[in-house]
Amino acid sequence: MAHISRIDLTRDFQAHRRDYLDAIIKVCEETAFSGGKYADRFDEEFAAFVGTKYASGVNNGTSALHCAMLALGVGPGDEVIVPANTYIATAWGVTYTGAVPVFVDCTADTWEIDPDGIEERITERTKGIIGVHLYGQPFEFGRVKEIADRHGLFVVEDCAQAHGAKYQGRNVGTLGELGCFSFYPGKNLYAFGEGGSVTCDKEEYYHHINRLKNQGCDRRYYHDEIGYNMRLEGLQGAVLSVGLRLLPEWNLRRQEIGRRYLKEITNPAIVMQRHPENTMPVFHLFEIMVPDREAFMAYMAQSDVECNAHYPVPCHLQQAYGNLGYKVGDCPNAEYLAAHCVTLPLFPEMREDEVERVIALCNAYQVSNKRN
Ligand SMILES: *Cc1c(COP(=O)(O)O)cnc(C)c1O
Repeated sequence: MAHISRIDLTRDFQAHRRDYLDAIIKVCEETAFSGGKYADRFDEEFAAFVGTKYASGVNNGTSALHCAMLALGVGPGDEVIVPANTYIATAWGVTYTGAVPVFVDCTADTWEIDPDGIEERITERTKGIIGVHLYGQPFEFGRVKEIADRHGLFVVEDCAQAHGAKYQGRNVGTLGELGCFSFYPGKNLYAFGEGGSVTCDKEEYYHHINRLKNQGCDRRYYHDEIGYNMRLEGLQGAVLSVGLRLLPEWNLRRQEIGRRYLKEITNPAIVMQRHPENTMPVFHLFEIMVPDREAFMAYMAQSDVECNAHYPVPCHLQQAYGNLGYKVGDCPNAEYLAAHCVTLPLFPEMREDEVERVIALCNAYQVSNKRN
């Protein structure tokens, strides 16, 4: 049987080859390489898509989070609350400023940040909360925001996995003070390389982020503050403009596949994420929990179906944060998920026969009683 990849970006390139290459050639002809016309044009289009006044393109999603923290004045001595179940870059942006990420558990069923765990982690040093719309599933923004408001904290959204997702009918990226996006290859919207964006409605943040990413200057060679080189490349802006036109149709296809998995995978050994009614997820990653990950992955690999895991180690137990003193048991839901999660193949160009094969394999899977 043919191989099924977890994700296959070559199909998109082949389907839209002419559009992508035309866009790239234009940038080359005009040598608009760093920032410039095509990066700026994408910023406008992306802000319009998200529904914010501004979007500031940057060189990757990690930089987007770093810029967001800097724009909010986070620095040494501060703490920012971050979910333990996320990609590590959510926390890096906090750490880069000299502040400390404080990890909070996820819920047992949505696998998103648990609002009930936040308040006990708030100290007099807490400046804000970064919520992550993980796997393309919006987190419970309303409750997080209510806690933040009560304590005078900001909420930043990590939207790196959720371009186009909605919470109570509102687009992610419009809800918090700032929205941080990644365009890493494989994200719902992706560059041919690296890219990211910060969305917001406040002009002040927008100008500050534009300055930070551009070596700290508004006027060339006059550096008003310590800056960074985090500009979005023109080539990536041009490619992203092509992708942005396709994104609604990609998300629809992701949703179609995601809903089929949810409905048709009925094996009781497989636990799926809960998707609350007030949200519209975009199925960046289709995560399941199984009793024995190694056995399940080996079983799928036998049928030449590639799976992986997001993420095998929760942030609070990563070696890089060993100095923060977390231990096993501090975030039990995130730890359980990390040990049992598997990511099934899901990407917009997946064919029906492939979707059906994944479903059939999942349903035929039997937990061996030898292990576990
Ligand atoms: C991808 C990702 C990032 C980082 O984005 P990069 O573009 O890879 O730097 C941050 N947070 C989450 C949740 C992500 O999935």
